[in-house]
Amino acid sequence: MIVIMSAGSTRQDVEAVQTHLSQRGLQGHINPGTERNVIGVLGEIYPELQNELEFMQGVSEVLRVTKPYKLASKEFASGPTVVEIGEAKVRIGAGNFIVFAGPCAVESEEQVLATADAVKESGAQVLRGGAFKPRSSPYSFRGMGEDGLKLLANARDATGMPIITEVMAPGDVDLVASYADVLQIGARNMQNFSLLDEAGAVPKPVMLKRGFAATYEDWLLSAEYLMAAGNRQVILCERGIRTFETFTRNTMDLNAIPAIHILNHLPVVSDPSHGTGTWPLVTPLAVASAAVGADGLIIEVHPNPSEAKSDGAQSLTFKNFATMMSQVEAVRGALAEA
Ligand code: PEP
Ligand code: MN
Repeated sequence: MIVIMSAGSTRQDVEAVQTHLSQRGLQGHINPGTERNVIGVLGEIYPELQNELEFMQGVSEVLRVTKPYKLASKEFASGPTVVEIGEAKVRIGAGNFIVFAGPCAVESEEQVLATADAVKESGAQVLRGGAFKPRSSPYSFRGMGEDGLKLLANARDATGMPIITEVMAPGDVDLVASYADVLQIGARNMQNFSLLDEAGAVPKPVMLKRGFAATYEDWLLSAEYLMAAGNRQVILCERGIRTFETFTRNTMDLNAIPAIHILNHLPVVSDPSHGTGTWPLVTPLAVASAAVGADGLIIEVHPNPSEAKSDGAQSLTFKNFATMMSQVEAVRGALAEA
């Protein structure tokens, strides 16, 4: 349920609504708007509540939110969420478009630094790199662990770029958060609810990737876990879903981007690297993602993709990344003028 306060309502009116709710064991979340305040109500809502609230001073309207996710629903927010990343305060959402780029996995100091320099030069704002890697086979390279986090932090010092890296286990959240500017929750962990609870308690942004068999509702309910645990700095990431096609690793669900913007106020990023699994398709799908309104892209880039320890087939060379960036810029520029 949401309570929309009238434009002329006072702070006392808002407080009275809050008191009414807390006396009934409910929580009121205030979203201050430029014109009027909106109060989101969480908890077990009883039939008479709507009437009670409607008659209170300063209340303009009371609406029921029928969606199972609340904090993550569009109705609960007063506008699109902007997430601020790192000390550099890189902004994403509400028209702020950014690119996260870097290797799938951190492999060595030279690899990370060279990639960070190259992607920064081409206009990426955030450096990506996995130190804890979820791999389908236990025999594949599973990442450098904390040593990898240290290399990412060195690259941040050298370039000034904030860093995003995956956290796989609830017990690793504090360690990863002590290095990372954004925590990444991978597709395979989208419904790891203990991990979501832990990451929700961290005062740093979280990128929540869509599980490859998750509906939009499942995905937004996972975002709700993060938000209900206190973290409002959530970025969603569409990374392709499983279909019957075998030529591509996954199928990029471009529908998801405008659909999520209809349902939800959080920024949504597209990951055409995992969404296609094959590098010649990455640039076309990056361009398409920008065209359908993605708030950003996350792209795998490697100094020498054929030598990569993971996801080489979908990694762009520095040169291909530069081309992708200028094509994306061209499409965004054209749309801004249309
Ligand atoms: C990754 O970003 O390298 C990754 C493992 O992504 P996903 O969780 O989408 O498979
Ligand atoms: Mn990868």
